[in-house]
Formats: sequence, structure tokens, C-alpha cells
Amino acid sequence: MNPSKIIVVGAGVAGLAAALELAERGLSVEVIDRGRALGDGSCSWLAGGMLAPWCEGATADAEVVTLGEPSIAWWMRHFAGTARNGSLVVAQPRDAAELTHFFERTARCNWLDGDQIVRLEPDLAGRFRRALFFPDEAHLDPRRALPALADTLKQNGVPIRFGVDAHAANLRADLLVDCRGLAARDQLADLRGVRGEMVVVRTRDLELSRPVRMLHPRIPLYIVPRGGGVFMIGATMIESEARGGASVRSTVELLNAAYALHPAFGEAEILEINADLRPAFPDNLPAVRRGPNILYVNGLYRHGFLLAPAMAKRVADAVFDPLMESPDADLRQRQSARG
Ligand SMILES: Cc1cc2nc3c(=O)[nH]c(=O)nc-3n(C[C@H](O)[C@H](O)[C@H](O)COP(=O)(O)OP(=O)(O)OC[C@H]3O[C@@H](n4cnc5c(N)ncnc54)[C@H](O)[C@@H]3O)c2cc1C
Repeated sequence: MNPSKIIVVGAGVAGLAAALELAERGLSVEVIDRGRALGDGSCSWLAGGMLAPWCEGATADAEVVTLGEPSIAWWMRHFAGTARNGSLVVAQPRDAAELTHFFERTARCNWLDGDQIVRLEPDLAGRFRRALFFPDEAHLDPRRALPALADTLKQNGVPIRFGVDAHAANLRADLLVDCRGLAARDQLADLRGVRGEMVVVRTRDLELSRPVRMLHPRIPLYIVPRGGGVFMIGATMIESEARGGASVRSTVELLNAAYALHPAFGEAEILEINADLRPAFPDNLPAVRRGPNILYVNGLYRHGFLLAPAMAKRVADAVFDPLMESPDADLRQRQSARG
């Protein structure tokens, strides 16, 4: 029997995408979040918003590529600001071997020479002799995409209540969908945090149309244009659960790498320096797990925007799955057992 009322706990990207998928399949859904407003206490607010499954394939499991590819179409359907104009990957001449290694580990990309780079990004003229281009990748601004999802939810009759802590509230629902990110560690003991730091700057002296990744053996960096001369520079990947703001070392390294990409960043105005912990399982893959009357969606790690649509679909499929009656099974194991 399908649940007549579902509460999604957590209004990060996982929770909003799951709520939307459930509402679109005709279910009665409500979202709660302990933050005061969208983005408050949510890792999703700090994300670069790259939808880059093939680039991520350089370091991630093949499952990330498979799950991430269809998510680009999902975002284009649900957020008009999704830009699908590819990703560019460059390296300093001394790190040229990094580019070759990246090419060998990825798919759906082609080599560009200096002239071709300039045709895509005129402001990079004279800076790089070679680059890799991933034409099918996309990007979005999380701080516009999440409010857009929230608006669509409201139009679909899905209330979102902020300032409601699941621990304190008396939640009455047939099914809970727990999308609390790292806070769900009280139930998911193998969840860990992977620290990510980022900087947002503004400069009128440079225009980029798409995310640019600069490879480096120690400090790989990406820059995502937000429009209006604003750029997000990210992100460190540190196996640490230290809370608090970005360190001086990380900030200096990110800004140095950005300056090496283009000297215009030297004169840029710093708008924000921030840090958060990405929720990750030991295999760095996302999962939907079940308990009695509850589904846990978590472990989106460094791919929250890329993988939230696939996880949302998995949640909705689970709700309509008659095997839903039996609790405590890991959905991923069951699905792979079925082939
Ligand atoms: C610097 C940085 C850059 C990143 N860049 C990218 C990128 O380019 N592309 C990409 O795809 N991913 C990126 N990520 C990863 C992505 O941000 C995460 O995978 C994603 O945000 C995880 O989403 P979530 O919804 O699981 O968790 P969250 O966004 O943290 O949402 C959890 C929500 O649950 C709420 N909550 C917690 N406890 C309770 C409770 N008891 N009651 C009610 N509500 C509660 C919180 O308030 C929060 O709003 C990046 C991450 C970082 C840190």
C-alpha cells in the first residue's frame, strides 16, 4: 500500500529533489528543515553546482558517471538556469602530464589547441596551449537552483516548514524520508564528513562561460562562473571533520591557483570564504537505505547536485515497490541482486 503521507526531513538538494519526485508521482509530501531558511545549515548551499559526470569519472567510481549522466536532463527540466555548455580542463605547462592522465581516465571529451580554447573562452587567450573539453557537461548556481526547486514544490502543493527539528517535532507520517546529510550520522554510523572549503570572488576583468578545472598534482581547482563577474573557486577535499571556517592555508592555495589560472583574480574582491563537511559513506557512493517506515538518502559526497535526481528516483521507485513492506534492507544491494 502506498503511504498516504510522506515527510521529507532536510531541505538540502537530496531532500528537495526527493520531495519533488514523490510529488510528481502523485504522493502527498511535506518537507521540514531545522534551518531558519533555505540554505541555513545545508552543505548544498556551498556547492559549486557542477554537473560533470565525465570529469568526475577521473576519480570517482563508474557508478557516479552512470547515475550522474541522466541528472543533467532532470536539472534542465526543473531549473531553467541550468547551463549546458560543457567544462574545460586545463593545466600549467609543468603539469601537462596531469592532462594526459585525466584524458586516459575519462570519456566524452576532446582535445583543444590554443585557438580552440580562445574560441570557447576568449579571456583565456595566450594562457594555455592545450585543454580538454567535455561538451555535454553542465552547471548551475545552487543558490538559484534550490529556491527554484522550493518554488516548484510549493506550486505542487508541497509545504516546506523551516525551523522544525525532526528530533523535537512530533512527526506524524506513514513514511519518513531522512535527507539530513551529515546530521543523519546518529542513525547511519558509517557516514563521515569530508571537509570542503571554497571562496567566492568578484572581478569585472574576466569573463568565463563555463566551469574551468585546473589540474595540479596537489591542489586541483575549479572555477565556476556565477554571472555578473562573480566566481566560485573550489574546493578542497580534506579527510577531516573539523568544523569552522576555511583555513588560511586552504584559502591561500585556492586563491594562488586561481591567480595562476588568470591574473585578473589578483585584483578580485573576496565576497565569501566558507567551509562545510560533505556527507560520505566509506565507498564514497550514495545510497538509499531503509528502516521501518523510513528511507535514508545519504552519502552524496562531492556529487550532491549530480546525484540527487538519481537518488530521488530511487526513493520514489522504493515507495512504489511492493517489497517496501520488508524493512532494514539496503536498496542498492537488493537492486543489484535483481540485476
Ligand atoms: C565546497 C563544496 C563544493 C561542492 N561542490 C559540488 C559540486 O560542484 N557539485 C555537486 O554535485 N556537489 C558538490 N558538493 C557536494 C554537495 O554539496 C553535497 O553532496 C550535498 O550538498 C549533500 O546534500 P544533502 O541534501 O545530503 O545535505 P545538506 O545539503 O547538508 O542538507 C541536509 C539538510 O538537513 C537539515 N537537517 C539536519 N538535521 C535536521 C533535523 N534534525 N531536523 C530537520 N532538518 C535537519 C539541514 O538543516 C540541511 O538543510 C560540494 C560540497 C562542498 C562542501
